[in-house]
Amino acid sequence: MEKHDCVIIGSGPAGYTAAIYAARADLKPIIYTGLEPGGQLTTTTDVENFPGYPEGIMGPEMMEDLRKQAERFGTDIRFGIVTKAELSKIPGEYHKLTIDESTEVLARTVIIATGASAKYLGLESEKKMMGHGVSACAICDGFFFKGKDVVVVGGGDSAAEEATYLAKLCPKVTLLVRRDEMRASQIMQQRVLDTPNIEVLWNTDTLEVLGDKTVSGVRVKNNQTGEESVVEAEGFFVAIGHKPNTDIFKGQIDMDEVGYIKTKPGTASTNLPGVFATGDAQDKIYRQAITAAGSGCMGALEAERYLSEHEVAVEG
Ligand code: NDP
Repeated sequence: MEKHDCVIIGSGPAGYTAAIYAARADLKPIIYTGLEPGGQLTTTTDVENFPGYPEGIMGPEMMEDLRKQAERFGTDIRFGIVTKAELSKIPGEYHKLTIDESTEVLARTVIIATGASAKYLGLESEKKMMGHGVSACAICDGFFFKGKDVVVVGGGDSAAEEATYLAKLCPKVTLLVRRDEMRASQIMQQRVLDTPNIEVLWNTDTLEVLGDKTVSGVRVKNNQTGEESVVEAEGFFVAIGHKPNTDIFKGQIDMDEVGYIKTKPGTASTNLPGVFATGDAQDKIYRQAITAAGSGCMGALEAERYLSEHEVAVEG
């Protein structure tokens, strides 16, 4: 079985930043990229708020840069999914990770950077139409709806961003917001309101995604008046937030009721020795690329300190 000082799970800004720091500290880190190498930013367009890019940068390009930077210092980047984690409670002892349900590796330190995934409404019709007009990523799938009317559900920055993006491709975008206000930042809301081909339906719940083989419309209800109507559309984009990808750690590591891993305040340390949590897997407040990157750095520095305090690894 392979033995490593530092295994990083996940390849978003947190994972790659942890790798850059760990590799430069000669911890010879291994990254398991997960299903979506580069993480959520590979499904976004312009990133305008990451310091150092005065003109902004495309999400996928930024993640490519981060990958190259991690590789430059010798990070071993492997396409693979950690399907099982057996985390030790004993200081200095190896943690065991199973990759793709087959290969097992031992790690003295584990940096969790597994991020978060898109949430869905949970409607039967939404599930049935997944991939046939229902999507949770406008940047990935918007192209297929060029010239067609679409609906976006959600009121946060994701929904605002997706609606604005789709409005460039589609004649009409209807945004369904369940309250009478949006949660999105003022600037993003303003962009939505300033885009003539976006119509916002306030106080609106989604009842059903209509269509047989592909989406033909969405049945909605005004939750103030009780009035039901159908919005004709060929695409339905869900942008209602995310869930942390922490299921494999359940029952072993302290997390909140939603699944965000708990870290000791001001650190990346979890309740387990040698296990550090970074990025969106532990952050439900900020959830930004820059904060994820910052916490990835913290995870690597803490892993380095932990390794020097536990010079000899203990077999589990
Ligand atoms: P948020 O949790 O911020 O917003 C989720 C939105 O979906 C809320 O408006 C919520 O409504 C709505 N919602 C949740 N469940 C349902 C439901 N069942 N039916 C209808 N609506 C529902 O998630 P986001 O993904 O938008 O953003 C996450 C984080 O990422 C935020 O911190 C955001 O700022 C950041 N972000 C930043 C971007 C940027 O800067 N470019 C782009 C995208 C995200 P309600 O308000 O009523 O709870």
